[in-house]
Amino acid sequence: ATTARQSLKIGLIPADGIGKEVIPAAKRVLEALGSDIPKPEFVSLLAGWEVFTREGYALPDETVEALKECDGALFGAVSSPSRRVTGYSSPIVQLRKELDLYANVRPVTSVAANPGDKPDVDLVVVRENTECLYVKQEQLTLTESGREARATRLITERASRRIGKMAFEIALGRPRQQVTIIHKSNVLSVTDGLFRETIRAVPKLSEVNGKYDSVKVEEQIVDSAVYRLFREPEIYDVLVAPNLYGDILSDAAAALVGSLGLVPSVNAGDNFVMGEPVHGSAPDIEGKGIANPLAAIRSAALMLRFQGYTAGADRIDRAVDQVIREGEVLTPDLGGKSKTQEVLDAVLKKL
Ligand code: ATP
Ligand code: MG
Repeated sequence: ATTARQSLKIGLIPADGIGKEVIPAAKRVLEALGSDIPKPEFVSLLAGWEVFTREGYALPDETVEALKECDGALFGAVSSPSRRVTGYSSPIVQLRKELDLYANVRPVTSVAANPGDKPDVDLVVVRENTECLYVKQEQLTLTESGREARATRLITERASRRIGKMAFEIALGRPRQQVTIIHKSNVLSVTDGLFRETIRAVPKLSEVNGKYDSVKVEEQIVDSAVYRLFREPEIYDVLVAPNLYGDILSDAAAALVGSLGLVPSVNAGDNFVMGEPVHGSAPDIEGKGIANPLAAIRSAALMLRFQGYTAGADRIDRAVDQVIREGEVLTPDLGGKSKTQEVLDAVLKKL
């Protein structure tokens, strides 16, 4: 929640490929919101592969410093080099660390009449983003019978609790108010056991003060959750998962709807939120003016939602849904013939 402000300062990091085509579209949509949000003020910032090849940094210090002065940000996409390059690491991973963006939140919603969509999908994957197997503590040892590799999996009560709180908070703002905890504690009873138990305890925390009592809590073993996600995705509302399961589930969930060009996400912490379309830099369509801007536009709406500007977020989402439902102005990934600019214009008109 944000207190009333004079202006809303947003960092724009288009980065690479079609990021440079879709982030400007999202910016235009924010500008068009008028009095639903404080007057937006934009700061253009560099990150990604292109700036790395020019300057040797994928995430210049100035970008991080400037973001610390912003109320939020929109990130486009980064190209990843096909081979390993010394000194290059994904700016998104670094940004998550620098700004403590511990959650990756991905809503997946089907829009009736979009032929590629499973009907009635309206779920949010809330993925813990700082620990689990992604602490990258791996060791290779040589034994008498050959090489042996081990990895450490870290689950803490602190990180599980804060991701749990975020999942409950998101569920509270949704009609069905349901949280499903994803785990594998039948096998990994210590690590997944702690995750599950900590999240189950969130509604009973004294500081929570009964706020989440209306939220229904369910749980599911990750393998059966994936099965049901494909068979009956309509049963899910908010899914909360440790890093690795969340990574897999969020890509699987994105496959339930017609195009990667539709799915938004945010990287969120307690003090900062960064919207980011789920798709990559899409080198195959770069520069053709046909990238679908709707994932980036929805990411801007999601950013606003996390900042507490619900009315503005709702207005953007309604405009996007209308454009998809009418089906007249769509980019080629959705079977249409329209350009990025035409889809943007259609959204602006609905707004
Ligand atoms: P990267 O290495 O940056 O991840 P990629 O090609 O592996 O790039 P994506 O960029 O996610 O992965 O693209 C996967 C496919 O989906 C490509 O064919 C791409 O053209 C298509 N695609 C992704 N985003 C969009 C979009 N916004 N509009 C239209 N097509 C898209
Ligand atoms: Mg990719």
